[in-house]
Amino acid sequence: MSEPTFATLVSRWYEENARDLPWRKPGVSPWAILVSEVMLQQTPVVRVLPAYEAWLARWPVPAALAAESPAEAIRMWGRLGYPRRALRLRECATAIVERHGGKVPDRLDQLLALPGVGTYTARAVAAFAYGQRHPVVDTNVRRVVCRAVAGEPDAGPATRPADLLATEALLPAEPAAAALASAAFMELGAVICTARSPRCDLCPVESTCAWRASGQAAPAGPTRRPQRYAGTDRQVRGLLLGVLRETTGPVPRQRLDQVWTDGAQRTRALTGLVQDGLVEPVGDDSYRLVGDGY
Ligand code: SF4
Repeated sequence: MSEPTFATLVSRWYEENARDLPWRKPGVSPWAILVSEVMLQQTPVVRVLPAYEAWLARWPVPAALAAESPAEAIRMWGRLGYPRRALRLRECATAIVERHGGKVPDRLDQLLALPGVGTYTARAVAAFAYGQRHPVVDTNVRRVVCRAVAGEPDAGPATRPADLLATEALLPAEPAAAALASAAFMELGAVICTARSPRCDLCPVESTCAWRASGQAAPAGPTRRPQRYAGTDRQVRGLLLGVLRETTGPVPRQRLDQVWTDGAQRTRALTGLVQDGLVEPVGDDSYRLVGDGY
């Protein structure tokens, strides 16, 4: 009997050990999977969970979000961070309504053409919502494949065509099995083959892992420095958005000035929010979330 493949080993492990997450439940809609993927791009699972539930309770289909103002999308995004994702998700919902009758498309080229949907997200939706065979490559998958197959300690900062090819080569031929393997690779990278502390003793592919076989030690330190938040323009932007989210309609500049003492940094943050299309000036030196009160 032939040895089980890499994908088989990881998929078996996944079926027994996968975290119970709402976007993985049977019957979850393609829209819900798309929402989860956008939210998870730059935000940890634990913070995404309540926002995901609230978002879908309010906007269970793309048409519901498309009918709302951009301000409401920003408001619902809350403190998930990188709030331009809320605008992009709403633009995406609008495009789904206009181009696809309100149904998330299942063709990769149509998914890739949606606003805010890139290489990763399009393939993730095609695989996890429609059971198709595509290499779904995020940071975690790149790291697993890099270590287990190439024997290198870590992957580079961005997904390259070579990463897609290397991952695709590991996928089973049958689409549903390939989609399961894609989810399994991601999970393995998220909880076992982590960047700093891989738990090789619990790994289903330890016996064949090239990096493990090379006898190399775990990486000595973080591959990326954690981003500072306190005192940054991001923090000031968050404070300004917090005030605007809690208020319907225009907020006088004077009120916004109270969130941060450094005037130059405050102005820079506010200007950035306007340039990013999240906030708009109105009337006599007031501001509001974009489209608020339309
Ligand atoms: S054996 Fe260790 S390094 Fe190799 S894939 Fe598993 S967790 Fe990662």
